[in-house]
Amino acid sequence: MLLMINILFTNFCVFVTFIYISGLLSQKYVVGVQSPSFIVKINAGLLFGIYGIILMYYSYPINPLLFADLRHLAIVVIASYMGWLPSLIAGILIAAGRLLLLGLTASSAIAAAGMFLIGILCGLISRFRGHRLIKMMIMNVTGMLVILVVMMINLKSQGSVFEFFLTQLIISVLGTLVIYALTEYINTSNKLFLQMKKNSETDYLTNLNNLRQFEQLLSERFLEAHHFNERLGVLAIDIDHFKKINDTYGHAVGDAVLQQLSRVLKDHTRSFCEVSRTGGEEFSILVPEVSPAEISLLAEKIRAAVEGHSFDPGDGTRLKITVSIGAAVHPDTIQASDAGDLLKQADRELYRAKNGGRNRICTATTLSRYTRLNA
Ligand code: GH3
Ligand code: MG
Ligand code: MG
Repeated sequence: MLLMINILFTNFCVFVTFIYISGLLSQKYVVGVQSPSFIVKINAGLLFGIYGIILMYYSYPINPLLFADLRHLAIVVIASYMGWLPSLIAGILIAAGRLLLLGLTASSAIAAAGMFLIGILCGLISRFRGHRLIKMMIMNVTGMLVILVVMMINLKSQGSVFEFFLTQLIISVLGTLVIYALTEYINTSNKLFLQMKKNSETDYLTNLNNLRQFEQLLSERFLEAHHFNERLGVLAIDIDHFKKINDTYGHAVGDAVLQQLSRVLKDHTRSFCEVSRTGGEEFSILVPEVSPAEISLLAEKIRAAVEGHSFDPGDGTRLKITVSIGAAVHPDTIQASDAGDLLKQADRELYRAKNGGRNRICTATTLSRYTRLNA
């Protein structure tokens, strides 16, 4: 009895470690927030398959002749959190582990087939709607029933099988409750962490980077460019006469225009460009490794795209807006000593574009010479 409690405590510690490590690994794939990719599901299945094999090693005596372990709980957990594919993979891996570790005998083959079946059944149960704890309990009891059948086939004395089944059922139901509480706690903490991170970096209206994140990215990218002797371009974008839109159509329409403009900006920039909303109707784009001529072309493309876009605030009206854009490139247009200098030059160019009549772009080509496109 003492030995059993001893090993059960070890099992508990092993499970807590597994769940903790999985929580760290899955920080980006919080269940219910992002749906995990195919690769993540495969990795999760392999990981929990390995957990199951390790749990097999920590078996505990139910009576002097019969040993049990909690390997099926590895399948129950991954099936209930990630679905049928990882459940199946974990089942196959644990079955293979059973055969390799305990020999290719007939009873081993039956036990391995049992684990494979548990993988399939837990995967099927995971597809039903319902409270996660209830599904975990159903998977648990299903797994235990499969193990009962395996034992009845493998063992001659059926009396001890039922004693085994009852004790093991109590242990694994208690185990499921503990694991559920732990995984839910870790999942909720991960979810909160992700939400807070996103809220602190993202503009609530447009989902673009907010000013704080832009400043952070700007100084990081600037240091990188400085270090590797690379170029870094900045576009400062401001909507022309946006106050008029608000005054004529209302603030809500203005907000819808800002949201749609953010999409236009995203659609016309490559994925490695960082688009941010840096003020009420001001936006900035970081463009790595770009020449003054290339950034001018990009700025002009964006200006023309905004001019050509019909904004639809959702009430049937169609609105037109224009933007003015200022561009600067380190180190071509300014030998910036810090990121702020580069940004200031882009802002000065934007100011020039505004003063030049709006709906245009300005790019500094040297410290003193300016080109104006579309002037
Ligand atoms: P300019 O061509 O000189 O840039 O003129 P402008 O009217 O765009 O510039 P100004 O700075 O005078 O006004 C900016 C306006 O943007 C003022 C404000 O009503 C509006 N604005 C700022 N933030 C928001 C926002 O979150 N939602 C909406 N709807 N309007 C905003
Ligand atoms: Mg402004
Ligand atoms: Mg403006």
